[in-house]
Amino acid sequence: MEMVDLYVGPNKVHFSVHKELLCNKIPYFDKMFKGTFQEAAVNSATFPEDLPETFDLLVEWVYSGTIRPLTMIPGPDPQQPSAYRLSYPCTQFYSLADKICMPELIDLIMSRFHQVWREWRFLPSLNSITETYSTTSEDSPMRRFMCMSYYYMASHGHEEHWPAESVSRALLEIDGLAADLIRLTRQTKGAVYHPSQISACNFHCHDKTAPCALRGNEMPVGFAAAPGYFGGSGHSFGVGIQVNMW
Ligand SMILES: [Zn+2]
Repeated sequence: MEMVDLYVGPNKVHFSVHKELLCNKIPYFDKMFKGTFQEAAVNSATFPEDLPETFDLLVEWVYSGTIRPLTMIPGPDPQQPSAYRLSYPCTQFYSLADKICMPELIDLIMSRFHQVWREWRFLPSLNSITETYSTTSEDSPMRRFMCMSYYYMASHGHEEHWPAESVSRALLEIDGLAADLIRLTRQTKGAVYHPSQISACNFHCHDKTAPCALRGNEMPVGFAAAPGYFGGSGHSFGVGIQVNMW
């Protein structure tokens, strides 16, 4: 069986993958390893700008057709809610799937991403919104998710956790956010939703006239966060919690 070598990140983390499988599954690699590029001659390619963790997930998807569930990992200090982060770099993985043009994978990642916010009832941090806007294209559904999170936090967040000063600064500093926010408020006529309160399909990129292949893929919602964590019943979304993506 012919293998290809992928070297990822500045430290060149090595992945060895079955060539036929990789090329059959992902046209981007088919062009790379079966065309006239240097990579095809040596069966090897480097991706210095990418995260090894995202390639680990990609290889998992190539072999298994699915990706592991996403969850929140607490930081070392339980008194520091902002220490929570996602169990893998989901938005970076999303950007990779976007770069290699795999809409089916993009939608699967979005479903995982949507699910974790639904379970944990937190909100992405302002830093995460900034990062998403700097790494995704203008019409990306991931931006739509972040814009909706921003709108929810701007209207429902407590001053203590989401100071109006920093929230307004984000609107000025994040290129494209203000325009997206105007489009969103026009679409919803001012109604505010936490993005995980509506179906994940709203953030899929597939043709909406076709049935959603991922419907029913969402796991039942349990209340994963510690009870009383928000000082309430736990039924409101985490307006006091900011989560950094990675
Ligand atoms: Zn869908």
